[in-house]
Amino acid sequence: MNTIKNINNLSVNNNRGFSFFDAHCHLQEPEIIWDIDGIISRWKENSGNTIVCCGTKESDWQAVAHIASTYNNIIPCFGVHPWFVEDVSEKWFYDLEKYINLQSNYYKYSKPFIGEIGLDHVLKNIDKKKQEIIFKAQLGMAKELHIPVSIHIRKGWDILIKIIKHIGPICDGGVIHSYSGSADMIPILEKYGFYISFSGSVTHPNNKKVQKSLKKVSPERLLIETDSPAILPYYPDLESENQKSIYSDSPNPKWTTKLFQIGLNEPCNIFMVATAISKILGISLSEVALRTACNGKELFLK
Ligand SMILES: [Zn+2]
Repeated sequence: MNTIKNINNLSVNNNRGFSFFDAHCHLQEPEIIWDIDGIISRWKENSGNTIVCCGTKESDWQAVAHIASTYNNIIPCFGVHPWFVEDVSEKWFYDLEKYINLQSNYYKYSKPFIGEIGLDHVLKNIDKKKQEIIFKAQLGMAKELHIPVSIHIRKGWDILIKIIKHIGPICDGGVIHSYSGSADMIPILEKYGFYISFSGSVTHPNNKKVQKSLKKVSPERLLIETDSPAILPYYPDLESENQKSIYSDSPNPKWTTKLFQIGLNEPCNIFMVATAISKILGISLSEVALRTACNGKELFLK
């Protein structure tokens, strides 16, 4: 059982006694950035506290830096996502270091971290060797600078473990975002210093694999995320009051946000992920929120 240490240091901005920590999303994406003021205000209204905003390619780092220097409680991450390794310029590594090393008062809330980086062996058209080279370089930078990493991994688990064994445990921590691996991998990943984050994919009732994995995660390693604007949580019928009752114990849901209606995700939907997790684990929504916020703080804000 997690002792929920440091919980008194989390600024809780509502009278429910808890607030959410979205451990991974992409506010800089063009599909949603036009509504950033609305996104941030709905996030706060719906008990949102901290958001980790991850860059995915050189061309979006500037937008991530701008968001984290403009809005409160945004943790910026910079990295090259495995989908974009073919697009890197000659100076990508130098530029990445530049964004990581911007003077500490540039970002409003926290220093930056490295992500989203990783390996994707599901998509067949991206050079696996190049993915590995770019991933290793970024892991090396994180290790040298003593900062956590946010990792995307689909299949390729054996290569991940080989790389981690080679460079050594992630001493400063890391998170496997939107976990899609097997339950058997969980203790191995935890041993190597990883937190495990679950996205809207856990809300799908038929996703038995992810439910099994969730049950295997140690309480002090669990995180939640939206991966906005991707992975809209399962919500079968926006019109049905019966279906709305799935999330009836959630704080002030805003069912009708324009983004939701057009199939785009945003951080205020985190309560749907938290509600699904509370039902699968048999614990209260507030416990999920408190536990994951505490873990997020432990990883990123220690
Ligand atoms: Zn992502």
